Amino acid sequence: MSAYDSDNIFAKILRDEIPSTRVYEDDDTLAFMDIMPRADGHLLVIPKTPCRNLLDATPAQLEAVMRTVQKLAQASKAAFDADGVTIQQFNEAAGGQEVFHLHFHVLPRHEGVPLRPAGQMGDMDAIAQHAEKIRAAL
Ligand code: AMP
Repeated sequence: MSAYDSDNIFAKILRDEIPSTRVYEDDDTLAFMDIMPRADGHLLVIPKTPCRNLLDATPAQLEAVMRTVQKLAQASKAAFDADGVTIQQFNEAAGGQEVFHLHFHVLPRHEGVPLRPAGQMGDMDAIAQHAEKIRAAL
């Protein structure tokens, strides 16, 4: 497995070198909106410390991230009056990973509504409104 690259896009988000729509953070984790949302409210949860993915994460990183994943899953389900929540997490390119800083996708889901295709840029005004709904539910 390759070494962690501190110039990956989520490391730059953590350092505020590129913009993001943050919805929650604590000492160990950050949650921000995905810019290519596959569902309204699609967000990402990451540790603030470096690791590529689940395969090299420490138990402490995983524990902190999963606490935040649960908090944001509950908040986004409430914010969108969703019927369920999908959690996705990919490891290495062969596993579908594109950004090599550990992240969990949190996707509020409604009965019978499929995920939108991957790779389509979202409307930034709509994403900002969705972030506000999630913040209000926290
Ligand atoms: P994956 O590594 O396959 O889990 O995919 C990376 C995810 O990061 C995709 O859902 C992208 O839409 C998302 N993404 C990429 N760049 C940014 C960014 N600058 N801000 C927010 N989300 C991003």
